Amino acid sequence: EPCDSTQPSGPAMTKQELLRYEKDDFSWSTKLKQNLKDVFQLSKFRPLQLKAINLSMSGKDLFLVMPTGRGKSLCYQLPAVCSEGFTLVVTPLVSLMEDQLMYLKSIDVEAVSLNASSSKEHAKMVLAEMTDTKAPFKLLYVTPEKIAKSKLLMSRLEKAYNAGRLSRIAVDEVHCCSQWGHDFRPDYKLLGILKRQFPKVPLLGLTATATSSVLKDCQKILCVPEPITLTASFNRTNLYYEVRLKDSNSDDSISDISTLIKERYKDQSGIVYVFSQKDAETVSADLQKKGLNASPYHANMNPEDKSQVHRKWATNKIQVVVATVAFGMGIDKADVRFVIHHTISKSIENYYQESGRAGRDDKPADCIVYFGFNDIFRISTMVVMENVGQQKLLTMVDYCQNVDRCRRSVIAVHFDEVWKDEGCNEMCDVCRHGNDYITVDITQHAKDLVQIVELAGSLDEKLTPLKVTETWMGKGPAKRRKMIQTTTLSRLEVEAIITSLLLQGYLSEDFSFTPYTTYFYLKLGRKAPLLKNQSHSITMKMRRTGLDANTVKVSQVKTKGKRSGVNAANSPVTKKVKKDL
Ligand code: ADP
Ligand code: MG
Ligand code: ZN
Repeated sequence: EPCDSTQPSGPAMTKQELLRYEKDDFSWSTKLKQNLKDVFQLSKFRPLQLKAINLSMSGKDLFLVMPTGRGKSLCYQLPAVCSEGFTLVVTPLVSLMEDQLMYLKSIDVEAVSLNASSSKEHAKMVLAEMTDTKAPFKLLYVTPEKIAKSKLLMSRLEKAYNAGRLSRIAVDEVHCCSQWGHDFRPDYKLLGILKRQFPKVPLLGLTATATSSVLKDCQKILCVPEPITLTASFNRTNLYYEVRLKDSNSDDSISDISTLIKERYKDQSGIVYVFSQKDAETVSADLQKKGLNASPYHANMNPEDKSQVHRKWATNKIQVVVATVAFGMGIDKADVRFVIHHTISKSIENYYQESGRAGRDDKPADCIVYFGFNDIFRISTMVVMENVGQQKLLTMVDYCQNVDRCRRSVIAVHFDEVWKDEGCNEMCDVCRHGNDYITVDITQHAKDLVQIVELAGSLDEKLTPLKVTETWMGKGPAKRRKMIQTTTLSRLEVEAIITSLLLQGYLSEDFSFTPYTTYFYLKLGRKAPLLKNQSHSITMKMRRTGLDANTVKVSQVKTKGKRSGVNAANSPVTKKVKKDL
């Protein structure tokens, strides 16, 4: 049962007091530095790592909130190596555990694990070694259900604790404790037993996403009386975020990109991310033709070529790497001035990580993404097999389609970070060109599109997004054109409306698989039936720049075919929306 320390604990330390923990004059400081270099083969700490490690080495309980990939594991692995006895690490997934064990093995740090698939002999050996002062392991990884269900493990931990061998407890993905978090795991609820049984052992909770209310909940569940919380912000203040529309009719993104690089980023280093290996080759060749010093990089190149490209880029002999996401591991060039996405990323997390390779030196840098309608579906077919892949892709689409929220706030909210609007400082296109959008009623458009999709369904046909677009624009077979309502909106507007209906759930994705390809279609979304309701209306926000048509046109239904004499009372309304002051 959870402990009853319901009182919120006050700030355990002031900022001033915390500063002390960034220093390196502790009794363990030399040892830390040496092991960081010799064992972990790292030259220096990343932000917050040293502070977290010093706090934990001082015996404090700590919650560490840091974006994925920033290096949370080191914050318990290095203390483990520098302490007597062993560190108990609770991890939610066996696969995470295996990754860690493999990594630790590669750097010669002794670690063991206990999970549902451990053999009896292995478990017996581990349990015996827990109290053996000569046992070599520094880290013991367990799944939460082991703590919850194995009395034997708890009693061995008790013995180890009494013998002073349990040096630290790390709870990875600590947000799993809370039902309000996004991946609640029931067994995490029972981890309060650790701090109740072993009150003198410092606990370190790690997570990439936790609001303060989730952390409060975790604190209660884990029975940690007064934890210190260190939060690394997701806000990279020196990065400028921008989204540019890619026109399906005349994709001039390449010439746009080359102009940018020649003018704005002259002699500066950067990355252009593309969707596929083929794109890496072609986009790179296109940029070369325009006189740029660019090279492709993708997983299918041989290792020597890859490392040569990387090396030449790192030493500024190549200005631009045109890369797939394979270009990522071990990239820590400090002076990357631009990261341009020729195609959107498959999720906000991915985008944050990829674009985050810009401006590591804290000087201004730009993150620009080109957003094209067709790319949504190219990526969709790729992520369809991934768990929640589709949903994550739509978060990225939402980031791009968005015209009224600060880009930073979209990212921050995605990571559950509390966001203050002044945090942007006009360092994104939305804030800089604020107010540049209109709200339009798209109810009738939605009805037209639903009719097109329904009609196809009744003919036992499936329509790709391209087909839907063309049919609505009146480019379908004549026979079909008679039965539906077509539109004179521009292609960009049509695509924006379909995208919005996809995001709002009036349309949704449908797949069909062959052994060779995945086909992507549009079908009615879960909210489509609402359109039958006369009073139901749908709006969307559209940016004004980038639309070639004048904005009024968007709001007026100019249709061919049977509804030519549109009733003014039904015609959608355009509202200009003032940005909240
Ligand atoms: P997290 O758990 O926060 O997602 P990890 O602990 O898995 O991140 O670390 C991500 C990567 O960062 C690893 O490859 C790790 O080796 C690397 N890393 C961690 N700390 C440092 C550092 N101080 N300098 C360079 N690389 C680091
Ligand atoms: Mg991790
Ligand atoms: Zn902003």
